[in-house]
Amino acid sequence: MPAKPKSVRNAADTYRRLRELHADATCELTPRDPFQLLIAVVLSAQATDVAVNKVTPGLFARFADAKALAAAEVGQVEELIKTIGMYRQKARNVIGIAKKLVEDHGGVVPGDLEALVQLPGVGRKSANVVLGTAFGIASGIVVDTHVQRLSQRLGWTKQTKPELIEKELTKLFPVDDWIMLSHVLIFHGRRVCTARAPACGSCPVTDACPSAGSAEDVGRKAR
Ligand code: SF4
Repeated sequence: MPAKPKSVRNAADTYRRLRELHADATCELTPRDPFQLLIAVVLSAQATDVAVNKVTPGLFARFADAKALAAAEVGQVEELIKTIGMYRQKARNVIGIAKKLVEDHGGVVPGDLEALVQLPGVGRKSANVVLGTAFGIASGIVVDTHVQRLSQRLGWTKQTKPELIEKELTKLFPVDDWIMLSHVLIFHGRRVCTARAPACGSCPVTDACPSAGSAEDVGRKAR
């Protein structure tokens, strides 16, 4: 068997140092109630958490739970979320989710992955966010654009598809690290190792990162 690259062998130590830097890392969507977090996660597709956090207080003041949202008119929800991208489609999706929760789960968000991914517009990544943040269940590792880019830049994977990256990361890190690993990589990706301008000069893991100083084109989406 070929020797593992140094970046992979040192992954636990690299992660430990990143975790120290981002000790406060957490999901940056504000809702923590499982239903409200699920809806916020669905709204956050191709939108920033900041933009979603601006619309969710008004949305949940009007429709606080699945039963209320299931009975909403599409136009009412559109009006409340119209500042975020794809709001028309998202309004339909979140009402669809609420209806399915009421019909199949008594209005309660199920705490398991298989049931969550049956909900309209809910994929594995969204389900992992909800389970990890609202339930404390490490069902997998959230691989969003930041986790994808960072795990490639740090030399932890050569895979490019989220599901394959997740598979490799779950082998590389113990299950107790899975929830926090995503939060830490997302924090680092937003604050230090950004897509366009990675700040390698102020990054604490330059010595362990194979992309240090030349990361601009590593792990970015094709232009
Ligand atoms: S050294 Fe540079 S490329 Fe590597 S994680 Fe830090 S900021 Fe990103």
